[in-house]
Amino acid sequence: MIEARGLMVFYENMIALNNVTLRCGDEQVVGIFGANSAGKSTLMYALSGIILDIKRKERMRGGERVTVFSEIDYDGEDVSRLKPHERARKGIILCPERRRIFAESSVLENLRIGAYLATKQQAKGTLEYIFSLFPTLERLKDRQGGFLSGGEQQMLAIGRALMAQPKLLLLDEPLLGLAPSIQKDVIRAIKEIRRDRKISIIVTEQYARPVFPIVDYAYILENGSAVMEGEGKELMDNPDVKSAYFGV
Ligand code: ATP
Repeated sequence: MIEARGLMVFYENMIALNNVTLRCGDEQVVGIFGANSAGKSTLMYALSGIILDIKRKERMRGGERVTVFSEIDYDGEDVSRLKPHERARKGIILCPERRRIFAESSVLENLRIGAYLATKQQAKGTLEYIFSLFPTLERLKDRQGGFLSGGEQQMLAIGRALMAQPKLLLLDEPLLGLAPSIQKDVIRAIKEIRRDRKISIIVTEQYARPVFPIVDYAYILENGSAVMEGEGKELMDNPDVKSAYFGV
């Protein structure tokens, strides 16, 4: 469904993505694993198109710091030149790292903000779905985003992304900073979202262990390059991957 070939991103003369090629089929969950600074967020920016906004802002400041080469086919169409909102309209929705919740707005308002691409009916149905997926959010619907715990904020960020009616959901480090029991809830939710909404999901993480059981295919990023890829079990049995990403 989405296939990116030869993605290259430079910040000044530093290479953040080096010739990365990846694929995510319909209703698949694909994992991208890599250490700090491996390029995970940059990859999400390249797929969602946000990298083009970053580049444009840099240019407005008078610099040509960001260079992007990308070839991205999505549902049979080349989307690599489309702006982020145009990609969003086609169903490519990013749930960014560190959640970016609107702290002053309530849970419900945060969710409604996400519904900018949804019809009234879609918004209503999706809201019901989100509350069934995360009953905590329904209980807290009038609370300000800034007063939620990390786990609740992550649920809200995922909910807000769902309100935008994704066909391809990009989750950038959704487990970051969460306690293991909350991580389990988020993983369960990702699995259910794929099953119930029949969408594709690309998820990045530093540590592979909690996410591995739900991914169909995974890539390992190191210093901007995809150094290894394979189906879950295949990668898990690889001793290098084990020691670097599973802590065994
Ligand atoms: P983390 O787990 O820390 O979020 P990451 O795998 O998401 O890391 P990126 O955020 O994509 O990695 O960063 C890749 C590299 O690019 C890093 O060395 C980072 O310092 C650099 N970088 C990211 N954004 C910019 C920017 N706007 N300008 C300059 N360098 C950047």
